[in-house]
This record gives sequence, C-alpha cells and structure tokens, in this order.
Amino acid sequence: MPHYIRSAWLKTLGELAAVLTLAVIVGLLLGHVWPVVTLAALGVVAWHYWRLRKLLLRLTARERLAPVQGTGVWNELDRLLHRSQAEMRARKRRLLDILRAYRAAAAALPDAVVVVDRNSQRVQWFNKAATSLLGLQYPNDIGAPVGDRMQPLPMSHWLAAGRNAEPMLDAGSPVDPNVRLNLRLIPYSDQYWLLVARDVSKMLRLEQMRRDFVANVSHELRTPLTVVHGYLDMLEPEEFPEWAPMLAEMQKQSQRMTQLVEDLLTLSRLEAQDSLPDESVAMAPMLATLRREAEALSHKRHTIVVQDEAGVDLWGSNKELHSAFSNLVSNAVRYTPVGGTITVRFVREGEGAALSVRDTGYGIPASHLPRITERFYRVSTSRSRESGGTGLGLSIVKHVLNLHQARLEIESEVGHGSTFSVHFGPQRVHPRNDTPHFSLPDSQTA
Ligand code: ADP
Repeated sequence: MPHYIRSAWLKTLGELAAVLTLAVIVGLLLGHVWPVVTLAALGVVAWHYWRLRKLLLRLTARERLAPVQGTGVWNELDRLLHRSQAEMRARKRRLLDILRAYRAAAAALPDAVVVVDRNSQRVQWFNKAATSLLGLQYPNDIGAPVGDRMQPLPMSHWLAAGRNAEPMLDAGSPVDPNVRLNLRLIPYSDQYWLLVARDVSKMLRLEQMRRDFVANVSHELRTPLTVVHGYLDMLEPEEFPEWAPMLAEMQKQSQRMTQLVEDLLTLSRLEAQDSLPDESVAMAPMLATLRREAEALSHKRHTIVVQDEAGVDLWGSNKELHSAFSNLVSNAVRYTPVGGTITVRFVREGEGAALSVRDTGYGIPASHLPRITERFYRVSTSRSRESGGTGLGLSIVKHVLNLHQARLEIESEVGHGSTFSVHFGPQRVHPRNDTPHFSLPDSQTA
C-alpha cells in the first residue's frame, strides 16, 4: 500500500477514534454513554454514505472530478479517480488522433476504399474517391446494402465468394461505364472487408494504344516486305555470281523480317481475343503433323520420337494449338545440337491431358525461366538469331495456352536438355472417336 494511502487510512481511523472518544466523554458528562456513542457512530456512517452517494452521482453524471485538496480516504479516492480520468482522456485523445490520421490517409487515397460488413454486406465507411468512382454518397449510403448501391457490378455474388473472390480486373464504374475499374476484396478481419477500386481507364487506353501501334506497324510493314521479298526471289544467283552471297543474305534477312512481322501480327490478334472458337482438335493428325515439321526442320540431324498415349482429343482452336505446339517443337529442334533426341508425348493426366516436348539440347539456366515467355526475351541472342528465331515464339505459346485455360510448365537443366509441358484441364478433354461436333461441352457454355 503506498504511504499516502496508508496515512489517509490512519487519518480516517484517527478521526473515527477521536469522534468516538469525544462521544464517550460527552456521554459520561450527560450520564448516557451508549446512546451518545451510538448517535456519534451513526453520524460517522451517515457521513461516509453521503460521500459515497456524492461520488456515485458525479460518476454516473460523467462529471469531471476536480482535483481536490485535503486528506482522508474519500479525498484520496477522489484524487485517484481524477488521475485515472485524466489518463483515460489523454489515451482517448491519442487514439482519436491516430484514428483521424489513418482516416485522413485513407480518405486522401486516389483509390476508392469501402469498408463492408461481411455478414450484412452493408457499407460501414468509405473515402472520397468512392463517391467519384463508385457513386457512394455520404451520409445516405452509410449502412446501405453494397450490392444495391453499386449496380450493375455483381457485388453480392462477388462478396459471397469471400476469400476466393478473384479481383475484377476490368469492370465498368456504376457512375460512368467508360471509367474502367480494377476491384479487389481484402478480407482484413472476420467482420469487416475492404473493397478497393482503382481507376485503370488510362492504363487500359495506353495498353490499347500500344497494341494498336504494334498491330498497325506490323500491318504496314507487311506489304513493302512482300514486294522486297518477291523481287529478291526473282533474282537468280547464277545470273549474278559475284552477288550470290549478298543475295543469299538479303533473302535470309528478308525472310526473318517477314517471320517477325507475321509473329507480331499473330500476337496482336491473340491479345485482342477474349476466347477462341472451340472445335474438336484431333490429336492423332496433329501429332503426325508435328512429327513431319520436326523432321523437315531437323534434316535428319536429330532423332524424333512421338508418343501418343492419351487416347483422347482436345477442345480448342486447331489453328492456334497447332501454332503453339509447333513453336515448342521448333524450339526443341533449334536448341538441340546434332545427334540429340526430341520426344513429343501426349498423355492423360488425371481427368485432363498433357502434351510435353522434351529435348536433349542446351537447356536453359534456371534464372532465365521466370522471364522466358516475355516478348523478345532470349537466353542467348546470337543463338536465337542463328537458328532463325524471332524471340516471340514462347509469347505466342503463352497467349494461346491462356486462351485455352492451359498451363505451361518448363523444366530444364543446362547441358542436358529441357521439357516444355502443356497441361489441359478436364473440360478441355473429350474421348477420341467421338463424332466431332463443333460445340462446347456443357461446362464451357455455362
Ligand atoms: P526464339 O525465337 O528466340 O526461339 P522463343 O520465344 O521461342 O524465341 O524462345 C525464347 C528463348 O528461350 C530462346 O531465345 C531460347 O534462348 C530459349 N529457349 C526456348 N526453347 C528452348 C529449348 N527447347 N531449349 C533451350 N532454350 C530454349
């Protein structure tokens, strides 16, 4: 017990003893000791009750206790309560300052931020940008159901998906459909979720401009190149023997440029598409074509093995899948030294299927793998050029596979070879010998 509390107690007990002693003396003088002592004791109890009542009334009225003078337990209690009240107020002020600073930061964000109650799906709080981007109005929309207020965005459906909700990457704003939004749901506590919406209109416009530019440039280059290529083809090296090496080089380079333009146009076309026509892709003829192409490119310098073990066909675009597989096979041949083996395997994988292209070639260092499907990304520029590569092959493969919801996996060991495998989900697979009908399976049309 702190010393000031002890002395307050002693003082209070001393006062009690003094009152009772006085009462005994007065009682003796008056000849009625017990009645006088009883009266004095009742007086002391009444005084304590009065102090207790006063304190309770002040506390229930939320009255600020003034710092008091004097000694005794009641004054000590008043002082202690005053001190804890002051500390609590200071703590509250500090917390409010922190809360205000956070709210000010969230309010100043250029992204729309909305706090949503997970169970009731109602708006709890939102910042300024939520008014311009999502059309929420303060104070009317505090407590409003988020699904109703953000129509036509499928909010309820999205919130129901909970933690598994995929971000909405390109959604029209409820205020203006031309404003494109990127929406994310961040489950930051069990009760409240954060909805963050970012205006990506400018970024999408720039991306579209970039795509249009590449597509237009490639398209414009195609005609002059065809002309140059055509005239070069007409020149017979025998007629100009001294020009023969230059002519051969010019033909090789114009061929390379034509291939580059064609690949760029293919990429632009794939990027502009959300989906591809779904047709039955017969894998037996596809694998036979891949074998022929590999043999033609290899000129008997490699062993080509094709293993067709899946016994199923695929749903997808014949043309684009052929282009993707053919790129993988062509890479395997081009990046494998003479005498190597290229193995193309088509196998079942659970309910799905996988096509893999394995080579015993140069291999790819692990550090290059994460970026290998980027446009113009090459492990060795000179080796790629020498082998007639454009640096766009794997980019095309990636785009085609994305459009088929398929996954590309690359395993490679430098000096031993690489395996590129394409994994198709069950919805992309159908039994062979099925009468090919050109419609989607049920799961795809849903
Ligand atoms: P390129 O036209 O240069 O072949 P790709 O996009 O097809 O372009 O491939 C990108 C790079 O990946 C290539 O330049 C090459 O370095 C590497 N690569 C692709 N396939 C293989 C492979 N089978 N073996 C070794 N390296 C490969």
